[in-house]
Amino acid sequence: MYEYDLLVVGSANADLVIGVERRPGAGETVLGTDLALHPGGKGANQAVAAARLGARTALLARVGDDAHGTLLLDSQRAAGVDTAGVLVGGAPTGVALITVDPSGDNSIVVSPGANGRLTPDDVRAAAPLLGSARVVSAQLEIPLETVEEVVRTLPAGSRFVLNPSPPRPLPPAVLAACDPLIVNEHEARVLLGADAGDTPGRWAEALLALGPRSVVVTLGGEGALVADSAGAVLVPAVRVDAVDTTGAGDSFTAALAWRLGAGERLADAAAYAARVGAVAVTREGAQASFPTAEEVAAL
Ligand code: ADP
Repeated sequence: MYEYDLLVVGSANADLVIGVERRPGAGETVLGTDLALHPGGKGANQAVAAARLGARTALLARVGDDAHGTLLLDSQRAAGVDTAGVLVGGAPTGVALITVDPSGDNSIVVSPGANGRLTPDDVRAAAPLLGSARVVSAQLEIPLETVEEVVRTLPAGSRFVLNPSPPRPLPPAVLAACDPLIVNEHEARVLLGADAGDTPGRWAEALLALGPRSVVVTLGGEGALVADSAGAVLVPAVRVDAVDTTGAGDSFTAALAWRLGAGERLADAAAYAARVGAVAVTREGAQASFPTAEEVAAL
């Protein structure tokens, strides 16, 4: 019996958002709106998304011994995430400094802070936690060698899901462990390089050739292409009026990982995840937009 449906290994950031008329040039100061402070980071987002759906969820992450760390821990606990695996200290909590201009375009500076100090040693020390989850999910806002150690430490029989964001080339052992590898168009293009091809079908085929057992290419309002050795299927998006797509991929990935752990087939789990992503894009924000299972059912 597994204690957790999902263990997320990843980042936790404080998102500091200020609206500006225009961005300052070098040496210049501009005035902006009141500061908005939100819990974020792909790891923290995925954990909140899964817990809100009802998954028994734990987070392995690192935050600073500071007010932003407290914000992150509080928001995880409020969603029902087990935070016993969240390490505190070593560097300030990761921060994303975000300016938004009137056209809605973001400029973002990320300070990884404590996320960059989540080490392979931390993963080895958390081996019992890794063994207590049916599915383990990771992203790349923590050091790649930490993700490699997750793959090495995973007990046989547990399932590994990776969203390689921000994208970079992956070692064969990490690729081989993914079931699935979940990418959007940008991530697919970076992983595949110059000869990526131009259709989601080609990306999925080429990504499978890199070694993962299955691949999901998310296509925003077009849905998601799921592919494994049995073939590829397009799972359509649910038609909604999108107001803010922030966090759509994180909620999709968390929901997919949870449903796979519950024994669903990849296409069925992706169809559920598409409903979760669809609700999330109808609301502002990332974690604030993630639905409960009841809200998904009501869609
Ligand atoms: P990312 O945020 O990683 O770029 P996507 O934008 O592809 O990921 O979104 C992930 C999933 O969320 C999509 O596969 C889809 O199911 C859902 N989704 C995203 N945008 C929309 C939208 N405009 N309408 C309906 N569903 C959406």
